[in-house]
Amino acid sequence: ALQCGIVGLPNVGKSTLFNSLSNAKAQAANFPFCTIEPNVGVITVPDERLNKLAELVNPQRVVPNTVEIVDIAGLVKGASKGEGLGNQFLANIRNTNAILHVLRCFDDPNVVHVDGSVDPIRDKEIIDTELQLKDLESVEKKLQKVEKSAKTGDKDAKKAVEVLTQVRNLLLEGKSARAAQLEEKDLEHLEDIHLLTLKPVMYVCNVDEAAVNTGNKYVDIVREAVKSENAEVLIISAKIEAEIAELESYEDKQLFLADLGLQESGVNKLIQAAYRLLNLATYFTAGVQEVRAWTITLGMSAPQAAGVIHTDFEKGFIRAEVIKYNDYVNLGSENACKEAGKLGVEGKTYIVEDGDIMHFRFNV
Ligand code: GDP
Repeated sequence: ALQCGIVGLPNVGKSTLFNSLSNAKAQAANFPFCTIEPNVGVITVPDERLNKLAELVNPQRVVPNTVEIVDIAGLVKGASKGEGLGNQFLANIRNTNAILHVLRCFDDPNVVHVDGSVDPIRDKEIIDTELQLKDLESVEKKLQKVEKSAKTGDKDAKKAVEVLTQVRNLLLEGKSARAAQLEEKDLEHLEDIHLLTLKPVMYVCNVDEAAVNTGNKYVDIVREAVKSENAEVLIISAKIEAEIAELESYEDKQLFLADLGLQESGVNKLIQAAYRLLNLATYFTAGVQEVRAWTITLGMSAPQAAGVIHTDFEKGFIRAEVIKYNDYVNLGSENACKEAGKLGVEGKTYIVEDGDIMHFRFNV
């Protein structure tokens, strides 16, 4: 599953956000095989299309996409050198696909700031520095290894030295690995060391209720500071999210949002941003037993998309039957689509699109 790690200094609102995001405890029944760690929350991905399909098909169960979020607490100045919870937490970020960097963008004299004042850019730099120092360690360790092989004339190792040196120099300048101008194939040399600062990042500006629509001076400063990064900047009020999480029904949540002049909750904003940032899309399977959403990377072929369900589906792939979401909803059923000639039969080279309703045929 897609995993996002939440980082940020203490008291910026991480736990508040984490608790409210993962409050909608994914129906455990749907996920009998996943063990949930205390710092790992599961968010069900809200998707109107899934609800619409479920209405039409009326299946036994409906399974939404999920995103896991990992609360990485204990990140303080000196963490990479063992301060606070030390290195422990850093291991937790290694396996995440993206980082949510929460920045305190609200004034509140009752909430102590660890560094005495509200300054999201200083905060961001403290966290970035810790992550960069950790990456520097990883890069240097690997450099030592590949330099030896490079001396024996190994071409691949020479290229690795080149790539690693470029990244090391950036890190030494206090920049993140994601700032490196690298080609797709260069990235292979970095894959095994799971660099923290190479992961895509979303900045979550935690603002007061009053600023959630408009932003505030802190948000402006953040936007300006990260302009050159390929990052998403989101405005969220952890406090509002916590209040929404308290509400039981969907209708109550919508009313509450409308009262605040909001179109959608922070969870929605966040998940959409994560999908954009990571180039993800959703396809559906729709049968009487189950209507379900599946996450793929944009550009995946039909067999690859089938592999998301089960590796056997990819190996034994024969063909896929594809209905476009709009056709399905307009015509109301798979049969109606078939009769109207709206059910496409596609082979191995078909590139799955967001919203496709797929039916895979395969050999076992
Ligand atoms: P963490 O240490 O980053 O996990 O921060 P917490 O989520 O524990 O929040 C620290 C304190 O800030 C708590 O007392 C929260 O109630 C408060 N807090 C969190 N978000 C907001 C916010 O948007 N506005 C205000 N005024 N207080 C907040």
